[in-house]
Amino acid sequence: MIKGKMYINGQWVDSRSGKEREIINPYDQSVIASVAEGGREDAAAAIEAARTAFDSGEWTSTPASERGRLVFKLAELIERDREELARLESLDTGKTVEESRWDMDDISGIFRYFAGLADKDGGEVIASPVPNTTSYVVREPVGVCGQISPWNYPLLQASWKMAPALAAGNTIVMKPSEITPLTAIKVTELAEEAGFPKGVVNLVLGPGAEVGAELSESVDVDLISFTGGIATGKTIMRSAAGNVKKVALELGGKNPNIVFDDADFDLAVDYALNAVFFHAGQICSAGARLMVQDGIHDRFVEALKARMEKIVMGSGFEEKTEMGPLISAEHLAKVESYMPVAEEEGAKIILGGRRPAEAPLKDGFFFEPTLITECENKMKIVQEEVFGPVITVERFHTEEEAVTWANDTIYGLSAGFWTRDPDRIERVSKALKFGTVWVNDFNVYFVQAPWGGYKQSGFGRELGQIGLEEYTEVKHVYRNHATEAVNWFGATGG
Ligand code: NAD
Repeated sequence: MIKGKMYINGQWVDSRSGKEREIINPYDQSVIASVAEGGREDAAAAIEAARTAFDSGEWTSTPASERGRLVFKLAELIERDREELARLESLDTGKTVEESRWDMDDISGIFRYFAGLADKDGGEVIASPVPNTTSYVVREPVGVCGQISPWNYPLLQASWKMAPALAAGNTIVMKPSEITPLTAIKVTELAEEAGFPKGVVNLVLGPGAEVGAELSESVDVDLISFTGGIATGKTIMRSAAGNVKKVALELGGKNPNIVFDDADFDLAVDYALNAVFFHAGQICSAGARLMVQDGIHDRFVEALKARMEKIVMGSGFEEKTEMGPLISAEHLAKVESYMPVAEEEGAKIILGGRRPAEAPLKDGFFFEPTLITECENKMKIVQEEVFGPVITVERFHTEEEAVTWANDTIYGLSAGFWTRDPDRIERVSKALKFGTVWVNDFNVYFVQAPWGGYKQSGFGRELGQIGLEEYTEVKHVYRNHATEAVNWFGATGG
């Protein structure tokens, strides 16, 4: 059995209350680990350590190239332990090891990218409009960063936050989801091995309502970066108001995937699957909201259904498995609860819509790949983030209708569309109100380009140059080389 502790001020510690949490394998509900279950007082200790490390100035005055070297070393250690990390991630989440290996390759690449950016900011000289003065802009680290991540891509989402924060010279308190902490623990061990100074990297484990709340409320935290659900995001935003800390929110999505009549049919079918079924649809950018133009709608649904019937569910550790379980019993119940709602609203479940009845799948949190047709824009099943292996299909007639429907959502994370018409590509890319728009593709991201949402999918951007800038303050320095008396106030007597 794996044991896990928290990492506070350079020490591996149990929770102050002595509580532990069992970590469950979603494939068969077996207990795979027991980890420290922190509370508010543990989070407060981690914040204090990060505060002291930041305020001492040792880390912030470390040359940016040296900070970059440490972040790069961490990237190399992640690459060295790629297989172990991938297996831990799959054990914890149920996703296939192959998917987890991709994640680990992305993650080492993310640390490497931000390591490279660490010493590239040369500041900016402003052409001062005032004679005999100089004016320049420098970027400085923000301070203590609270980082709260979700369970669906545990280490990937954590790395989007850790790598830029450390490269920019901040100190961090990372809080992974309480149900998937294993890879965050392992990567913190690697950060220790890389040699980050004491207090720069801290890890706290435990429930969001305590540990996460302490991070978002504390006056000693300067920035909170959160990835997770909308309701939690709103709570964090309110808590952060206490000391007006900087906030970055990466929230959910309900992402349209629009297929026009003139699309490459076979590719669009293939990618309609790729858009959703990684990690059993538990992806913030899942193209779970499929919209197909009426000329090809029926043929498209048939072709999609035929492929979905063949999706192989099973253990993420078996090579033939294409889709693992959902993360937890609660989440499985939530996904399942949408099925009667969809039917009451008039949609038709033409495939799946239930838990598999046979062993061994019935012992895990599995839900069958589900295809729901005759959906309409206003339906709950279309508007809400189901976060499971569920595709809803809407039939549309015109481009205008497709764009209007697609934009009619509180979310704005990502969208994709399929067409061969170059003019339509221009028009629709411009009209869609989403942080990422894919044209003839879906679910592609890379560290060089920014990621984030419009509307209630959040604000702030991760990845890319802008992802580093989120972790900096901008300071303007103005120097007068020939200061002269002004004599405005009180100089001439009453
Ligand atoms: P969640 O909001 O339940 O939890 C996310 C994190 O917040 C966890 O670490 C949790 O412990 C913590 N938390 C819970 N309550 C808290 C509180 N009151 N104060 C502070 N922290 C608290 O989300 P989840 O179920 O873990 O993740 C799924 C959600 O994440 C989905 O909505 C998904 O779309 C979203 N997500 C978004 C992106 C993106 O890039 N936009 C990426 C991955 C996941």
